[in-house]
Amino acid sequence: MIGDELALQQLNCHRGASAEVPCMFCMNVKSKRSIDVLHDRAGYFVLVTCVDCEKFKFHSDVTIRKIAFDLRDRSSVETKEGMKTLQKQLGYSYIPNSLLLCPVLKYKPATLTVYDWMHCFLVDGVFNITVGQTMAVAHKLGVSYKNMASFVATWSWPRRLTQKGAIGKDLFKPSRIATWRKEQKFKCSASEALSLYPVMAAFLQMESTRLGLAENPAFAVLYLCCDVLDHLLCIPRGTCTPEGLAEAIVSFLRLYKLVFGEKHWTPKFHSILHLPRMLAEHKVIIPCFVAERKHKEGKRIAGYLHNTSVDFERSLLEDITSNHLHALRDFVVKPRICSGIARCSETLLAQLQASFPDAISLQVGKRAKFNQFNETEVGDIVLAQIGEPRRGCRNLWCDCRRRRSVLFGQQAETHQQRKATFQVAACRARASPA
Ligand SMILES: [Zn+2]
Repeated sequence: MIGDELALQQLNCHRGASAEVPCMFCMNVKSKRSIDVLHDRAGYFVLVTCVDCEKFKFHSDVTIRKIAFDLRDRSSVETKEGMKTLQKQLGYSYIPNSLLLCPVLKYKPATLTVYDWMHCFLVDGVFNITVGQTMAVAHKLGVSYKNMASFVATWSWPRRLTQKGAIGKDLFKPSRIATWRKEQKFKCSASEALSLYPVMAAFLQMESTRLGLAENPAFAVLYLCCDVLDHLLCIPRGTCTPEGLAEAIVSFLRLYKLVFGEKHWTPKFHSILHLPRMLAEHKVIIPCFVAERKHKEGKRIAGYLHNTSVDFERSLLEDITSNHLHALRDFVVKPRICSGIARCSETLLAQLQASFPDAISLQVGKRAKFNQFNETEVGDIVLAQIGEPRRGCRNLWCDCRRRRSVLFGQQAETHQQRKATFQVAACRARASPA
């Protein structure tokens, strides 16, 4: 079960991150303004700013459901005020007919619920705050958002991202920059943050070298935050371990606390501490990017529907379904050409045949999927490993005849064949496992 903060809160009858008990998984974690920690001589309670996971007392399915049943029983005998205090202390609300109280489903809130790392980091989250704080320090050193904008403008993103408007190049407008500086928070969409974060880290690295600030701790906090994002992006590829993720998150949070203090620390900083445990339990944690994109899809279609008096929902649902079915045509995870062209140039074909004499058939296209997660389009530069493990920029062409292989061409020298999709000239291609 995954969703944004509000969805998880409503589903599990939890009172939310702004409540006195901000985390639905921890019994003893209290919000920053709670006075329980001050009066707790036994040392049971900890503040939400604690990064020592050993100190957290975790809920289980049984304890959460017990709270729900206890609240139900007490609701008939307690006063209104009494119930209010009780719910506040426990962090859960009594909602009749909620999922927690269903005797048939035997819903397991702790086992099934997973925090969404996208919402935790990228939607008004940990990353946005960290960038805001780092840039506040950077500004004092003469490095501004304006400088960052000029640096970002020199970068090119893969075509598939450019078309979806998910690169964040146009974000840096003076009015926005003024708001970011005032609120000490960088505001952008989750997709934009995902495209921008490596470039931001590169920018700060370049600036710190220019200013001779190799050891600047504020910049180091942002690098560590980017490091956590790198780990999270490796989860679907199976190369991120819970231990590695835990180490990255704890190092980041410790340094954040040391450098920026607890003033801007939100419950999302605590939530990310649960991610390694969730990864260990579920083997994979899926972010909400796809679900969020679906919001956009609905809004895009609904924007054109002006007559809402007759079957608005049905008409919208039909349009969304047909769009989805259309999109499913490309839903094949094997490497392949996605957008083939019927006729390609003779030169290109001759070149390909010369490079792959044993090829049974050759396909040329404008867009190719080269593994389960990535695709590329004409004009993209890809970082490829060719033959021995050495890396470099190469123009890419794909051949899916072997199903599991992707073929990389050496750097092209002319642009004359651009019309015929992939550039050709003096290329010696070799096969490389996908
Ligand atoms: Zn917690």
